[in-house]
Amino acid sequence: MITSKLPNVGTTIFTTMSQLAAETGALNLSQGFPDFNGPQALLDAVGKHVASGHNQYAPMTGLPALRQQVAAKIARSYGVQVSPDSEVTITPGATQAIFCAIQAVIRSGDEVIVFDPCYDSYEPAVELAGGRCVHVPLGLTDFSLDFEQIEAALSPRTRMIILNTPHNPSGALISRAELDQLAELIRDRDIYLVSDEVYEHLVFDGVPHVSVLAHEELYQRAFVVSSFGKTYHVTGWKTGYVVAPAALSAELRKVHQYVSFCGVTPLQFALADFMAEHPEHVEELPAFYQAKRDLFCDLLAPSRFSFTRVAGTYFQLVDYSQIRPDLDDVAMSLWMTREHGVATIPVSVFYQTPPQGQRLVRLCFAKREETLRQAAEKLCVI
Ligand code: PMP
Ligand code: GLN
Repeated sequence: MITSKLPNVGTTIFTTMSQLAAETGALNLSQGFPDFNGPQALLDAVGKHVASGHNQYAPMTGLPALRQQVAAKIARSYGVQVSPDSEVTITPGATQAIFCAIQAVIRSGDEVIVFDPCYDSYEPAVELAGGRCVHVPLGLTDFSLDFEQIEAALSPRTRMIILNTPHNPSGALISRAELDQLAELIRDRDIYLVSDEVYEHLVFDGVPHVSVLAHEELYQRAFVVSSFGKTYHVTGWKTGYVVAPAALSAELRKVHQYVSFCGVTPLQFALADFMAEHPEHVEELPAFYQAKRDLFCDLLAPSRFSFTRVAGTYFQLVDYSQIRPDLDDVAMSLWMTREHGVATIPVSVFYQTPPQGQRLVRLCFAKREETLRQAAEKLCVI
């Protein structure tokens, strides 16, 4: 008999729904990934580097050329200088980056504040480190931070707060004023931050992304995480990075070097080349995804779903209370997949205590126009 270290963990909702979509032939708007390829020059660069022999271990902290490109992108995007050598670490995916950051600083008995709905990888990582998550719900309709509840959740054991902006699954953004308020709240406490900013370049309507990297005070205690998968349409490459002050990076690297040692070499070469040659890719990304959001939302306007256009990410939440208020969101997602041919993600699975009566599912719009049109056609007749 095995006594599980993670008794509450099963198969993730992303695996479950993507599998169901494949079995039923439904359009898969559940797990977040594009149904189109990354830029051709990026794909070609991988082949070139594999053929030219870049197939052995990369440096543990990441290829220097890629770390330099990351630092250059950060300088362009947020106007701050980070050291590519001591502050940037390339990891096999943002998930691994988050895991390593948590293992690096969380000890047995520590508490970590997370905000519900909460991305699913945080809590198991905290539990494996011997810590415990304290769940604070975000605002019911706008998914904003509730500072009274954060303050109430703080204890002498609080060792970390995990932020996620732009937020999966709601698309909500954290503002500069909120970061300032957070800084004030934890100023005299020994608390680290993980800021999960994997959707940093998917922010719409001309609103800039507010990065913890650009918050001088908070950055001193932060691990800021991003993913090339989202930014370059290559989620299957599982390549990401962490930016943290040198002392924190050093601790993170101690874990990273024994979790994986390094990221995949030819992918790092290809990303470094592409970032150097196409800095405009990142600048064009908001408009690229905003056009998809707007097309999808325009097509859904005649449907019986209600929604507010998301501020960021490539997910759109839709409320189905006018359609099947009798179904909870897991049942609704299964019903939509099986009976209407569109796979979605229920939102309640990201809560410790799902809000009573919430009727929301998440749709991924990182899809070709043709897929969005087909999906909208099906959604409009539900
Ligand atoms: N954080 C959030 C909020 C995500 O949505 C995702 C993934 N899709 C990740 C982290 C993980 O990114 P990666 O695939 O690079 O591990
Ligand atoms: N982050 C992706 C999503 O939210 C899923 C990644 C995964 O499958 N673990 O859909």
